[in-house]
Amino acid sequence: MQRDLSEQKCPACGAPLRFDPASGKSVCDWCGKSYEIPSTAEEPAEGEAQAEGGSAPKPGISEEICVYSCRSCGAEIVTDAVTASVTCPYCGNNIILTEKVTGGLRPDGIIPFKIDKKDLPAAVQNFYKDKMLLPKRFFSESSIRDLCGVYVPFWLYDCTMSGSAYYEGYNDSAMRSGDYIITERKHYDLERGVNMDFKDIPVDGSARLDDALMDSLEPFDMADMKPFRMSYLSGFFAERFDKDSDEVRQRAEDRMLTSTMRIVNASAGDGYMGVVPKDNDIKPSNLNAKYVLLPVYTFKVNYKGTDYSFAMNGQTGEVVGDVPTDKGRALTRRWGTFAAVFAAIMLIIWFISC
Ligand SMILES: [Zn+2]
Ligand SMILES: [Zn+2]
Repeated sequence: MQRDLSEQKCPACGAPLRFDPASGKSVCDWCGKSYEIPSTAEEPAEGEAQAEGGSAPKPGISEEICVYSCRSCGAEIVTDAVTASVTCPYCGNNIILTEKVTGGLRPDGIIPFKIDKKDLPAAVQNFYKDKMLLPKRFFSESSIRDLCGVYVPFWLYDCTMSGSAYYEGYNDSAMRSGDYIITERKHYDLERGVNMDFKDIPVDGSARLDDALMDSLEPFDMADMKPFRMSYLSGFFAERFDKDSDEVRQRAEDRMLTSTMRIVNASAGDGYMGVVPKDNDIKPSNLNAKYVLLPVYTFKVNYKGTDYSFAMNGQTGEVVGDVPTDKGRALTRRWGTFAAVFAAIMLIIWFISC
């Protein structure tokens, strides 16, 4: 079956265009021309219903395999249900599979790539710079592979967290009575009212990317968010979400509750010598989700036959991933920590004994 696709072509020479992170423009590598990307949202295709209220409704997500034929070379390209942008493996044509990014699947916004592929080795070196346990020959003996620039589907949540957090607080006072010192502890039931607004809390909507890895790529600078245009996808891989906003909402709420409690706990004991958290009835309200695409590079670093998984924030250059450790160096480090702890214990004993 022939499916909908869009090829971003150079109007001057007809060669494929690609999005260039450095200039923020569509460029033609063939004739060297570059084109501004309009800052308005893309016109919906004829007959295509626009998502109401600006956010995507829940579509049926199937395990289907999609087949497209490249208009430039005629090759059949097979993708899964979530892939939205590919490069033809035969002719290098950049193809956008429009049905994955239109209608209910149209993103509300996109942060375009800012970091170029060629800057990646330098960023990785920088990441490793202060990793003390790295094997000595790591840089000369490792290689980067399976590099992929992918627009990852994210849900951004706006929400108000409100309710009360309950604590038990206490104050101690001491007084001398003859040979004795009497300590009196007064207990208080404390209630702290909470009303906190959150904006653009991101949670990834991709089942195949590791949640913890995606969380550690934050923060993204949401000020760079642009209305969605297909031109940004050219030359990059893109996915549509396969976990909808209802499926990942709990993760967003958990994150917001954790942040709320951290802030409330920090000031709950003001005026008291100590507080113990007891309970809370803080609940989310006015929850609103936006669907956006955020830029991420995924790659592997191969060292001595083992692959280490990495990801890089394509906007800020932040790198996260595994670090191979040198066993000899790790051992020295552990002894170092042990020695420091031992010294601290000695110091405490010394204080107690004098
Ligand atoms: Zn051209
Ligand atoms: Zn092709």
